[in-house]
Amino acid sequence: MTDFQCLSCPVCHKPLIRQERVLCCAQGHSFDIAAKGYVHLLLSQDMHSKDPGDSKEMVQARKRFLDKGYYAPLAQGLCTQFEKLLPQGMSESPLLVDAGCGDGYYTHTLHKFLTARRSDIRFLGLDISKEAIRLAAGRNKEIGFIVASLFKIPLQSESAHILINAFAPACDSEFARVLKPKGYLITVIPGRDHLFELKKVLYDNPYLNDEKEPELPSFTRENQVRVKQVIDINSAEDLKDLVLMTPYYWKTPKEGLERLSRLSSLNTGIEFVISIYSRK
Ligand SMILES: [Zn+2]
Repeated sequence: MTDFQCLSCPVCHKPLIRQERVLCCAQGHSFDIAAKGYVHLLLSQDMHSKDPGDSKEMVQARKRFLDKGYYAPLAQGLCTQFEKLLPQGMSESPLLVDAGCGDGYYTHTLHKFLTARRSDIRFLGLDISKEAIRLAAGRNKEIGFIVASLFKIPLQSESAHILINAFAPACDSEFARVLKPKGYLITVIPGRDHLFELKKVLYDNPYLNDEKEPELPSFTRENQVRVKQVIDINSAEDLKDLVLMTPYYWKTPKEGLERLSRLSSLNTGIEFVISIYSRK
């Protein structure tokens, strides 16, 4: 079970200490650990809506789709990169943080892969969507999952060794603050050709992705790796889930969604760009 190490109080920023089923700071602010095992550390004033982040429907569609293994090549690519970056022979156990972890598919895959190689690694995953964190906590009790904003990460400064930011907004100043001086940041964005064949069904004039890298002035890019494959999405339900989990759902004309609903399978390219940054 996780001890939720290195977290800080979202109210006063003092360290949070686990006491049985709550996390408390020295000022007496306390946060319950939910029965599912996660902690809600998002203050109401930072919740710009009643239920921030991706909707329940989107999050559940994403979990169903990812659990079928369609994006396993990316999970594998991430494992390979993380293994290279793991600190060697340290007295302190490394802390890995997934900033924008969604339903925890990649966090959980990395945890399984990396703890088989080094048993003392600690993991934290955070996301602003409570439903995403609820599902993530159901995957793995050894990862500390928290509901929090990545623009105000409730982590002590210079506590994380490696940060991952996949398909989520990036926050240069917060990432630089929570990482250790020689820490690494790994980002994932969709590549140029990602899901192009799906877009050809949805749109009359599909565009390639523009591969916009996040702005990270506090970091130096060390390396970049591309994961590219063709996958066979083999059921109408999976195709529907794929569209539901992407922003396309909200931007697609009705005719496009109708064209998709007539398909029972689709071969489409997937492409991801994994970038490795070091903190300046
Ligand atoms: Zn406090």
